[in-house]
Amino acid sequence: MPESEIIYLGLGSNQGDREQLMAQAIEQLSVALGAPVRLSSTIETEAWGFVSPNPFLNMVACFSTDVPPMELLQITEDVERRLGRRTKSVGGVYSDRPIDIDILFYGDRIISTERLTVPHPRLHERLFVLAPLAEISPRLMHPLLGKSVSQLRDSILSAPHSNA
Ligand code: ADP
Ligand code: MG
Repeated sequence: MPESEIIYLGLGSNQGDREQLMAQAIEQLSVALGAPVRLSSTIETEAWGFVSPNPFLNMVACFSTDVPPMELLQITEDVERRLGRRTKSVGGVYSDRPIDIDILFYGDRIISTERLTVPHPRLHERLFVLAPLAEISPRLMHPLLGKSVSQLRDSILSAPHSNA
């Protein structure tokens, strides 16, 4: 039997009934992955990487699962589609979305394929990911950067031109 791993998902929503969409996403993910081990609180943040009048709700969810990484990506994309997401970001161009689910960490695995990069390549730049992550798992280590998520959060907070 495959061993379970601790995985972290980042959720964001800036369209529709955001609270409800986040709750539905967690519920649907739980059907596939089992009940979450930990959930952060939700925070509200300005859209990042594109201009939008609609602020995001963001949160982080932690699960223990033996679902392999590519299957996990499939599950998160299915939930995104069921909750009404129509378009993917193309060429780094972001847009409003009812729900976005990113795989932040998969245990301490390092994955680099065309469809999946883990740890998520931009998580260390994003306060809206690091703040909820540090809330639930402050000592969690980034396997490539060798820093804990609370250290990564603190370095954004002390940066002179924080855009987070
Ligand atoms: P973003 O979350 O940056 O706005 P999308 O949700 O539209 O972008 O995802 C774009 C692509 O990113 C997806 O097609 C997926 O294959 C890829 N991807 C690579 N690594 C990850 C990851 N760790 N989590 C989620 N998607 C990822
Ligand atoms: Mg995404």
